[in-house]
Amino acid sequence: MPPVDADLSRYFSDSYEEGRRKFLDACLRHDLEVQRHVHPSLKAPSGEDLSMDAAWYGPQDAARVLVFSCGTHGLEAAAGAATMLRWLDREGPGQLPDDISVLLIHAINPYGWAWSHRINEDGIDLNRNFPDRSQPQPSNPDYLDIHQLLLAATPDETGLDKFAKGFHTLTANKGMNAALTGITSGQFDFPEGLSFGGQALSWSGKTLFAIARKHLSRAERILHIDWHTGIGEYGQPHFILDEGKGSDTHILLSDWWPGHAIHCDDVVEGVSIFYNGLLLEGMRDEIGKFNPAEVVNLTIEWGTYDVEKMLQALMMDNWLMHRAGGADPALVDTVRADLIERFYPQATEWRRNVILASEKIYDQAVAGLESWGRS
Ligand SMILES: [Zn+2]
Repeated sequence: MPPVDADLSRYFSDSYEEGRRKFLDACLRHDLEVQRHVHPSLKAPSGEDLSMDAAWYGPQDAARVLVFSCGTHGLEAAAGAATMLRWLDREGPGQLPDDISVLLIHAINPYGWAWSHRINEDGIDLNRNFPDRSQPQPSNPDYLDIHQLLLAATPDETGLDKFAKGFHTLTANKGMNAALTGITSGQFDFPEGLSFGGQALSWSGKTLFAIARKHLSRAERILHIDWHTGIGEYGQPHFILDEGKGSDTHILLSDWWPGHAIHCDDVVEGVSIFYNGLLLEGMRDEIGKFNPAEVVNLTIEWGTYDVEKMLQALMMDNWLMHRAGGADPALVDTVRADLIERFYPQATEWRRNVILASEKIYDQAVAGLESWGRS
């Protein structure tokens, strides 16, 4: 295994195409079986196909399956994908206990990664795309004020500042809970707005469900970790569970990762937000339709920049997708580069931290899944 500092570019990629090639090469080297799910119509900037790739290692009927996925939020994929490559380099699959198999899901939102967006090809935030579609569409009246701010916003320095100030004013007037619910809990009425959950299940959602049916119908216990970036301390992992504090799962994860806070809805002190249509919850519900397995979900973020910068980044992504037509190409390039940096910092220090901290997390995931229900 090469030392981390020797070549970080072995793990981190500058494009979706490069990331996918590295992933396929690594899977080939380590005997993982890869299934490619090609997007039916869209291509990468190079003209190459876009795909979500699912790699499997271990017995098909393993009682325990570890799932790692990345790229729910497009360009955030690069960091999670790097940690997968490092784990493969460390011979992670070959060291799995006999009854654990692993499923790596690479680039859940390949369009977003390839075209440097957090949202998908339809402007959907895939982490809001999985509400129970048999129920009436969730409503988010707190979003209306955010939408006004968004439409007035521009991605230049003055505009970004104004957007952040507008959000602070909203927070002062309506309270942090309403302001954050508005901007982050998901909305289903404005396709060109922020945190749009979509009117239907996306291509990525359908593809994920197909992967789940193929690989997750026999396991009895499943641990699914979805890698993200943008929340938490710079270069540090930030664990988020979609269940309440004190729940059985919270206790379990706190035991598997001692020393790590397992955050629930406590991103901001004293604020509790209900998120609509989370991807991991959608996957768990889908698995529940064909397999009574126990499923534990965990989102792990790699912290990048402060909350204000990340709120602005949501606006920048939206602007690039929906409102940059006719804008000065130099401005578009600047905003895109800035957006990438906010979710995928270039600094060697950040990337080295991610790789090094991820090693322990992968080992703890395997150990946790192995110990689950046995003591
Ligand atoms: Zn994310």
